Amino acid sequence: MITYSLGLRNRFRGITVREGMLFEGPAGWAEWSPFLDYDDATCVSWLRAAHEAAYEGWPEAVRTAVPVNCTVPAVGPEIARQLVERSGCRTAKVKVAEPGQTLADDLNRVEAVRDVLGPDGRVRIDANGAWSVDEAVAALKELDRFDLEYVEQPCASVEDLAAVRRRTDVLVAADESIRRAEDPLRVRELEAADIAVLKVQPIGGVRACLEIAEQIGLPVVVSSALETSVGIAAGVALAAALPELPYACGLGTVSMFTSEVVAEPLLPVHGMLPVRRISPDPSRLEAATASAETRAVWEARLARVQELKGSTG
Ligand SMILES: [Mg+2]
Repeated sequence: MITYSLGLRNRFRGITVREGMLFEGPAGWAEWSPFLDYDDATCVSWLRAAHEAAYEGWPEAVRTAVPVNCTVPAVGPEIARQLVERSGCRTAKVKVAEPGQTLADDLNRVEAVRDVLGPDGRVRIDANGAWSVDEAVAALKELDRFDLEYVEQPCASVEDLAAVRRRTDVLVAADESIRRAEDPLRVRELEAADIAVLKVQPIGGVRACLEIAEQIGLPVVVSSALETSVGIAAGVALAAALPELPYACGLGTVSMFTSEVVAEPLLPVHGMLPVRRISPDPSRLEAATASAETRAVWEARLARVQELKGSTG
């Protein structure tokens, strides 16, 4: 059981260092890396996902590579342009509705991205639930002049998502409304989305995601929870096992780390990730190992969550 601590190139969710645990079981390597602000109960599904990777392995793949998007944070148009150009991806996900910024900032950023990708590229946006229903409808009216593939989580609640969806022609994707919800299937009941964003660790494994995908009856976009290549491989396994994969995945996130635990990180080539198992490189693993203090925190956390998992099955 290894506790890792790896630097991030840019602040993400308020953190600059990503921590988690890696371990190897009979079926392969597994990652358990719930964010530190999550309570123990939330971390149980993350542990189910790790156990699946280590002890069960993943369902059979129906494809050998999966397309991914590049991610454009709330940067200015020039940097946005460079990020998309360098990525080699044909789909870009652009962050919008950043606190402290205006719709004009979003329009400039999305315009720059559309310009780089040309008419054949795909541009999706993610508001992380920051808009009200009226703000979302007004913003989408403006932003859709750059031909949006979809908007991810325009508002925070699933009810508001449904309201936006009735007032816009832009497709709506649910992210937080699935992974942080008590009942992810409310998205279907309220007809709140056209697309479901699924993440393996929060939902509790590749099989758990495949089950939700079937029940929810929507096309799926597989995304990461900012894992190392070990965790990303689980997302790739899900994307590879889905019967249909009409959208690029949000799995091209390994580039956000300053270093990695594997010799050949799961970085996209021409916008594609290969479907393969991952084994950490011993010397990189050693370099990534966290301090004794951090290890103690994670070991205690794991023991608590394991006990919780045991009591909930
Ligand atoms: Mg999102």
